[in-house]
Formats: sequence, structure tokens, C-alpha cells
Amino acid sequence: MFLLSTCREILTSQNMNNASRLTIEDAIILYDQADLNDLMGVALNRRRIIVPNNEITYLVDRNINYTNICTINCQFCSFYRPPGHRETYTQTIGEISERIMELEKVGGSRILMQGGVNPELDLEYYTNLLSELRINHPSIDLDCFSPIEIEGIADVCNMSTLEVLIELKSVGLHGLPGGGAEMLVDDVRLDVSPKKGSSNNWLRIMGEAQSIGLVTSATNVIGFGETNEHRILHMNAIRNMQDLALKNNWLGFTSFISWPVQLENNVFGKKSRRNKVENLGSGPEDYLRHIAISRLFLDNIDHIQSSWPTMGLGVAQMAFFAGADDAGSTMMEENVVSASGTKKTEANEIELQKIIERAGFIPIKRDSEYNKLKTCFVKSKNISAEIPMQN
Ligand code: SF4
Repeated sequence: MFLLSTCREILTSQNMNNASRLTIEDAIILYDQADLNDLMGVALNRRRIIVPNNEITYLVDRNINYTNICTINCQFCSFYRPPGHRETYTQTIGEISERIMELEKVGGSRILMQGGVNPELDLEYYTNLLSELRINHPSIDLDCFSPIEIEGIADVCNMSTLEVLIELKSVGLHGLPGGGAEMLVDDVRLDVSPKKGSSNNWLRIMGEAQSIGLVTSATNVIGFGETNEHRILHMNAIRNMQDLALKNNWLGFTSFISWPVQLENNVFGKKSRRNKVENLGSGPEDYLRHIAISRLFLDNIDHIQSSWPTMGLGVAQMAFFAGADDAGSTMMEENVVSASGTKKTEANEIELQKIIERAGFIPIKRDSEYNKLKTCFVKSKNISAEIPMQN
């Protein structure tokens, strides 16, 4: 009885315009006990304060997975191949450039390029690649190489990660994808990705990137069998990092992006070391709860993204009512999540506009720094059957 009234009190206090910062303890109570509809309502109100107007943004971009060679062997990853495997690949600058030309034709503004930790590629591969792309595609933001890849390059070249970042920025790197954060709680993280290094590694490299002006986002994968407390501790690590960034006048994280681990075609989905397989992953209720809590807890990050590739377009729409203000991006090509069994991993601009409109919001095209761009509304007769929440 006491706990239930406490939960209501926390929700009521969080629903006020001048709500104080949500503590770890109170966030866990909300996560464990709050009625989902009440929680989503409070999170939506918070979103309207932080990001006013009835708009949902989206980005036209392309994912490029330039190499699938990797030595890190994350249990949940179906994408990578170890060095020497017959299915390995590394794309040439020409192949990557062709993909960017396709993006330019549909009005895209950035590439998100990441791959495995490939011990065969030295710094020169990366600097040549970025220099060429910067010259040939001047209007495309190059957001490339997650922290673990930066660490891999540093190891190969015997440099510090900060030195690598400075080199890459000098030849055109615009930002780092937020990938690889997964769960920034070492108890969970080192169980599913023992070779990926501690949470502090990811946070340190992101801090270095932010300190030299690179654009970054924060991510979170859920469904490893972790507790709600682990999830809040992950958010707390991100919130603390953002406090530090803002205090130092660094750019900080633009956004928080979470999605559930995908369980097909990988070791993790068949045999987790500590959890029964039926306890892994996440469903719509759990995901919407996570979105709502993240909107309330992360009071220093403006943008919360919904994940349509992993949850589907319908749940992504529901996430707009749980505090998300961004529909993510078109992706165009995706090989990491889709390797784990997810069927739909690309959407065109019309589809994203339609799911936003049909949920009652105004679609706004943006760039990777969340600057609003001119939004052209494209009509298509054939699209309505594919997407939910019909008018
Ligand atoms: S998730 Fe990334 S680091 Fe881990 S095995 Fe896959 S490609 Fe390698």
C-alpha cells in the first residue's frame, strides 16, 4: 500500500512543470509499478515541455556496414565474421561512394557507417576513405565508427583513441554513431560481450569525441535478462556523462536511442549463460515503459528516438505517445539488426511521414544534429496498405 501511494506521488511530482530530477530509486519504483498509460501520459507531457510543438522529426540517411570482419565476438551479434571466414567482406571506397550517391538522389543528409573491429585495416584505410568521401560528397555528414572500432584502430596503429579521433576529424569525420553502448553496467555488459571492454571505455571515448566537437548519440540495448535497476543504472551513466559534457561546453549527446536485443541467428538467442531464453528480448509494453522512463530520467537530453526497425512501425507510433519525439531514420540499408532476423530494416521517407501523420503529429525532416530541414511531402497511392494506424 505504501509503495503504491509512493509510485503515485512520484508520478504526480514528475507531471509538474518544475519537476525535480528523477532519482535512481524513484525511477526504479516507476519502472516496477507505474500504470503504463499513466506513465506514458506523464512522459508525453514532459516531451511537450522539452520539445514543444506537435512535431516528430526524422532523418533521411543510409547505413553502411563497410566491413563484417570482427574479433570481438559479441554473443548477440549475427552480423560479424571472424578473420579468415569465407563470408568476410570489406568494401572499397568506390563501393561506399556508390551507396552515398544513391542516398544523395533521395535527398539524404548523412551516412551512419560502422562495421566490425577489423585488425586488417590501419589508420590509412580510414583516413583515405574519409578524405575521398569528404571531397566527393560534401553535403553528406559522415557519422562513422563506434567507440569499439575507434579502440580497434588505436590498437592496430599503437595510438591513443583521442589521437585517432583527432586524425579522423581532420579528414572529415562529423560524428560517431552511438553503437556499442548496449548496457553500461559491467555485470551485464561483460557477460554478453566480454571482449568489448568496460562501460568506462565506451563513455571515455564518447567524451573524447565530444570534447573535440564530434556529434554523438547515446544508445541502449535492452532484453539481456537484466533487471529494471540495471536499465536505470545505464541511463544514469548516460545522464552523468551528459552533465559532464554540458559543464565542459562539449556538444553532448544529441539523443537517446534504445531497442531490444534481437535473438535469431546468434549464440545469445539460443543459449544465454545466465538467463532462460524466454526471459530475453522485450515486447511492446516493456519497450514503451522504457521509452517513457527514459524521457523522464534523461532530463538533460532533448531527443528520445523510437525504434521502428526492431519494434515495427505500429509500436514506433505508440512510442510517440510515450515521450519519443523522433522517428529515427530511413537507414536504406541495414545489415546488423537484419542479420538477427528482423524483417523490415529500411523505410522510405513517405513511410516515415505517414506513420507520423497518422499518429496525429507533424513530420519534420531533420539533419543529424537535429536541425530542421525543408520537408517535402511526397504522395503515394500504394503506401497505405503497408503501415498501421489508418486515418
Ligand atoms: S556487435 Fe560489433 S563489436 Fe560486437 S561482434 Fe558484432 S560487429 Fe563486432
